Amino acid sequence: DRTLLEVEDLRVEFHTRDGVAKAINGVSFDLHQGETLAILGESGSGKSVTAQAVMGILDTPPAFVTGGTVNYCGTDLLTLDERVMQTVRGAEISMIFQDALSSLNPVFSVGWQIAEMFRIHRGLNRRDAEERAIRLMERVRIPAARERVHNYPHQFSGGMRQRIMIAMAIALDPHVLIADEPTTALDVTVQAQIMDLLKELQDESRMGLILITHDLGVVADVADRIAVMYAGRLVEKAEVFDLYRDPAHPYTLGLLESIPRLDQQGERLNAIGGLPPNLTRIPPGCPFHPRCRFATDICRHDDPALLEVAPQRRVACHHYDQVLGQNLLVVDQQR
Ligand code: SF4
Ligand code: MG
Repeated sequence: DRTLLEVEDLRVEFHTRDGVAKAINGVSFDLHQGETLAILGESGSGKSVTAQAVMGILDTPPAFVTGGTVNYCGTDLLTLDERVMQTVRGAEISMIFQDALSSLNPVFSVGWQIAEMFRIHRGLNRRDAEERAIRLMERVRIPAARERVHNYPHQFSGGMRQRIMIAMAIALDPHVLIADEPTTALDVTVQAQIMDLLKELQDESRMGLILITHDLGVVADVADRIAVMYAGRLVEKAEVFDLYRDPAHPYTLGLLESIPRLDQQGERLNAIGGLPPNLTRIPPGCPFHPRCRFATDICRHDDPALLEVAPQRRVACHHYDQVLGQNLLVVDQQR
C-alpha cells in the first residue's frame, strides 16, 4: 500500500527555565494507507509532541523542531509555512484529542460546529452544510442525528462527544488521522465502541491511523504495528502480534507485564518501578537503565541504537536477546 507519511530523525527541544528538554530525540517511522500504527509510551515519553510536530501545532517558542523531516506524500511538512499548513490540517492530516468536551465550543450546537467544516473549507451554504453535518453524525453512529443536530455539547455523553470530534476530524476526508489518547477519558465499554468506530471508518476510507496511547490493552485489537517510545525516542518497533507475543525491549516487557490479565488475581503483577527521566537531564547511556532489571555496565555509558533484529522488527537494547522469551515465561508461570 501507498506510503502516506514518512517521519525521519525528528528532533524537538523545549527551552525551559530548567534548561533544554530533549522532547524528541531522533524519531523515525512511516505510515501506509489503511494501516494503523500505535505509538505507545508513558506520559512524557514524547508521543503527543511527535503528533504535534507532524501537525505543525507545537507551541513555538518554547518548542523548536531542531531536526528531521516529516514527509507527507512527497512534501516535507516542516518546510511549509503556516498558511499552507492550514490547508493540510483537517483536509489531509487530521487529529482528535483526549478531551472532547474542552475541544468543542460550548456555545454553538454540535451541528453548527460540524457544518462549519463544510462552510469554511468547502464553501457550502448553511443548509447544505447542515445536511452534510447530519449525514456525518449518522456516519459516526450518533442516534437520532437529525433531531439532535441543534443540541449543544453538554447535552451529549462523553462517548457521543468523542464521536462528534471524530466527525469533525473526518469531515474533509483526510488521508491520515491521528488520535491522541482518544478513549482515555471514557469508560471501558465506551472505549471499545470508539475503537470499533475508528476501525470501521478506516476500513471505509482506507485512512492511515496513528493511535497514541499509554495503554497497550487498548491497541491490541486495532493496531497493525506498534512503536514504543521512551524518553523521546523509539525503543522498539514491531508488528503487533510479535510485540505482544515476545517483546524485545525491557520497557515493552514491563508495559506488557503491567496489563491486568484474566488469569491473574488482584493487583498488577509487575508495574515498572521508578519514573521516566526529566527530559532536561536524560541519563547517559541507555535512558532506561535506572529502571531496567537487565541493565549492565555497558548500558550506563553506551546509548543503544535502534537496530533491525528481525524483519519488521527494531529494538534499541544491548541485551534484547535476553529479553526475548521472557514474556512467554511469565505467562507459563501463571498457569
Ligand atoms: Fe536495559 Fe541495557 Fe537494554 Fe537499556 S540497553 S533497556 S538498560 S538492558
Ligand atoms: Mg499526551
